[in-house]
Amino acid sequence: MRFFLDYLHQKVPRAGRDIPHYYRRALITSEVLLAVYFLLCFFLYPLLAQRWEWAPLVFLAVEGVSYWMTMKHGVRANLFLYAATSIAWIWWNVYYFGWSSGVQHFLTLVIVLVFFNIYDRPLYKLLWFLFILAVRVLLFSMSQQNPALYPMNTEAGTAYQTVNTVSFFLNLAAMCIIFSTSIQDTERQLRLKNQALYKEAGTDPLTGLPNRRSMIEQIEKFYKESGDQPFSIAIADIDFFKKVNDTYGHNTGDYTLVRLTELFTEHSMGRYSVCRWGGEEFCFFMPGMNLDESSMVMNDLCFAVEKMKLEHEGKEFNITITIGVEENDFASPLEDLLNSADEKLYMGKESGRNRVVV
Ligand code: GH3
Ligand code: MG
Ligand code: MG
Repeated sequence: MRFFLDYLHQKVPRAGRDIPHYYRRALITSEVLLAVYFLLCFFLYPLLAQRWEWAPLVFLAVEGVSYWMTMKHGVRANLFLYAATSIAWIWWNVYYFGWSSGVQHFLTLVIVLVFFNIYDRPLYKLLWFLFILAVRVLLFSMSQQNPALYPMNTEAGTAYQTVNTVSFFLNLAAMCIIFSTSIQDTERQLRLKNQALYKEAGTDPLTGLPNRRSMIEQIEKFYKESGDQPFSIAIADIDFFKKVNDTYGHNTGDYTLVRLTELFTEHSMGRYSVCRWGGEEFCFFMPGMNLDESSMVMNDLCFAVEKMKLEHEGKEFNITITIGVEENDFASPLEDLLNSADEKLYMGKESGRNRVVV
């Protein structure tokens, strides 16, 4: 008993925590639709059964309480109240008007709600399912053993069954729409979030350029898809960058990296992609270019950097870069090509900087 009470009062996590809010929304929508249906039934009985029945008003009131509870408290008891109301309504209808009134369909809604609640373990769902099945079998046998208290004539019975069927289908459709659209929406948001996270993880925050991991992925993809195509890679390093930091400050160093990135992006014109390889080093990937073509592009870039005027916090200065270039030899793995470009960069530093070594 204690376990059951605890279970009933366990909080159903709300939206914004770890469970989406669509379950609550489905429950509330169904409660509103049922309330409308009970009100309709109240006015229908004098027409169909030639008598006023107060029961629909009682159910309407209970549905109101259910609605209030669902809005106010996200607890498991809401589902129990919903199920209890549905079962009581079905029982009352079968007892009064017989099985042919078609109200038993409403049990399906309870099953849908049970299976779409994501806070319960599969075992509880199975127990719920067996319980609903047992209720349905019991109600049917009850209807077979006891004739209806106030059986409706054929026309009234058909009309009532139509009302019940339409109401049930409307309710089912509303639940299915809420569940399916919410799940699709959640999936879409997750996909977008994943894409954004993936992009963020592959981007250098200072310059906005792809980082080393992202560049390696890009080159490996090219290897896989166009392994027989030429390509070149280059590694560039700012000359005496430590001096820029030491002389003008770290902020000016950062500004230099950003300005350099802008120049690379402008200069590229789709001929290469560039990443921040690390610190003050950049890596260029030139698909479709052999060493002759790529060295021309890199020489042009080296010249453009030398010409670039930098001005930050009232200080004017220039920088140069040294670049090592390597082409795909269709034999070496990417790592060897990168090492070779790096060695050439080192040679460029040794032999005076501000140059391209091929
Ligand atoms: P070399 O011509 O031999 O490459 O000389 P260098 O001074 O450029 O090389 P060194 O490796 O001695 O110094 C690189 C400097 O780059 C040191 C480091 O503080 C600076 N650096 C690396 N990343 C950043 C950054 O994100 N912002 C700033 N402001 N400085 C950076
Ligand atoms: Mg360096
Ligand atoms: Mg350097």
